[in-house]
Amino acid sequence: MYKVAVIGSGFSGISSACFLAKEGFDVTVFEKNDSPGGRARKLNVDGYTFDMGPSWYWMPDVFESFFKHFGKLPSDYYQLKIIDPSYRVFFSQHDVLDVPAGISRVCNVFEKLEPGSSLNLLKFMEEGKHKYEIGIQDLVYKPGLSVLELMNVKLLKGIWKLHVFQSMSTYIRKYFRHSKLIQLLEFPVLFLGGSPQNIPAFYSLMNYADMALGTWYPQGGMYQVIEGMVKLATSLGVKFKFNSAVQQIIVDDNQARGLRINNEVKNFHYVVAAADYHHVEQQLLPASHRKYDDAYWQKRSMAPSSLIFYLGVSRSLKNLLHHNLFFDQNFSLHSKEIYENPSWPTNPLFYVCCPSKSDSTLAPHGHENVFILIPVAPGLKDEEEIRKKYFDLTITRLETLTGQSIRDSITFNKSYAHSDFMNDYNAFKGNAYGLANTLLQTAHLKPSIVNKKVTNLFYTGQLTVPGPGVPPAIISGEVVARELIRQHQSRSAEFVPQLFL
Ligand SMILES: Cc1cc2nc3c(=O)[nH]c(=O)nc-3n(C[C@H](O)[C@H](O)[C@H](O)COP(=O)(O)OP(=O)(O)OC[C@H]3O[C@@H](n4cnc5c(N)ncnc54)[C@H](O)[C@@H]3O)c2cc1C
Repeated sequence: MYKVAVIGSGFSGISSACFLAKEGFDVTVFEKNDSPGGRARKLNVDGYTFDMGPSWYWMPDVFESFFKHFGKLPSDYYQLKIIDPSYRVFFSQHDVLDVPAGISRVCNVFEKLEPGSSLNLLKFMEEGKHKYEIGIQDLVYKPGLSVLELMNVKLLKGIWKLHVFQSMSTYIRKYFRHSKLIQLLEFPVLFLGGSPQNIPAFYSLMNYADMALGTWYPQGGMYQVIEGMVKLATSLGVKFKFNSAVQQIIVDDNQARGLRINNEVKNFHYVVAAADYHHVEQQLLPASHRKYDDAYWQKRSMAPSSLIFYLGVSRSLKNLLHHNLFFDQNFSLHSKEIYENPSWPTNPLFYVCCPSKSDSTLAPHGHENVFILIPVAPGLKDEEEIRKKYFDLTITRLETLTGQSIRDSITFNKSYAHSDFMNDYNAFKGNAYGLANTLLQTAHLKPSIVNKKVTNLFYTGQLTVPGPGVPPAIISGEVVARELIRQHQSRSAEFVPQLFL
């Protein structure tokens, strides 16, 4: 059997491992941390279970499609329920908007704020659906090896309908005037790595994913998905090695011959690097075999990092739903402080997840599990004092906007920011969400999944195609596994990589 090493056990690494094991490869996943999941790990403490990263389960079709390849359903591993209302938006203490599940009910919300806008929303959603379908069918599963992949008649014929050359900001304003509706539709863009002014309107597909496909929740938390995927991988024969940081990729004659792990060298025919691309290139490969140099990385536009607080609260909190967005401050200033003038935000927007509202297993009886996330520019220094300043600022706003005292009931408080992303995941500039999805960093313009200088090394994860987010990371794992399998099958026996003894 041909041996494959996968570096990293995030969504992309586990996904690639499953596809490769199904094809008959002998796959071992090496993970530096003591548990799988990467940015989607969980934290168990004092009876609370925190999802450390993702909390929005969007695009359920992608998860279904992944499991279907192995004759399985998501429900074989975890139970999904729809979150309704999907989320609450706080514009001020007495101005709150609940976005319900189901597009017809979202139309009612739009109509109340801007009479006549529900018809526009339906048109907007129809266009978003078209982009979503084109994206899923013709774009996201492409390996990004050449511009020719985009030269598909269906894609080219319909390119004007994808609004690739128009910004989200302009596009949304063509349909809606009410500032709250505009803000609601612009918010998903914040996590794609650009301001609404420079993210292509193609990404209104995210609004379709949000408002038409719905916000789902795997009972027990997002980590159930990781556990399900690990269970599937193990059943396919994948081996997981934790506390196994890869220290070096040993290259000889343009081939990755082995990995140095805990000071021992292990040999493999192929290597799939599912750790952050920048780390793999700049720290694991010799300079002579890197595809990109430091200057290249410095010019990349990264998606945001985050300052997060995981809080255990010893009483029930009112006025919060499972997902809550705090839009009581200026969106464009915060966006500029992430992308144009990277700095700690003056008055940040923030997101609060209180999953114990949907799932009592995540906190002790009568307690709440609270996760506060402030999107911030990557590359900032996150000293203790800064974290404390933003903790005070967000808790004060949270207390005012929800009309209750919270601070005195906090029994557990852990913060997480840039330096933790770097220490835990070797994240470039402490990024949380990988590489930005700007037009110039899309498809074949992203860091490539292959490296001609090391022909049996492949890259996957949120810094390559198709981009950041759980569904794209799962897709990325599939894309890279298919490319590895394709190359393996097309090599004649004498060119298949040999084990270095
Ligand atoms: C706070 C936060 C909130 C998010 N919210 C959402 C959300 O709500 N919905 C959504 O869809 N997406 C969300 N995302 C994005 C999503 O979580 C990521 O895009 C996805 O999990 C990335 O998966 P990955 O496999 O590319 O990388 P990772 O999960 O980072 O996996 C890489 C793995 O490689 C390991 N590694 C690194 N270096 C080495 C080494 N030298 N040797 C061995 N192992 C190594 C790391 O420890 C890690 O386990 C969020 C991300 C964050 C951080």
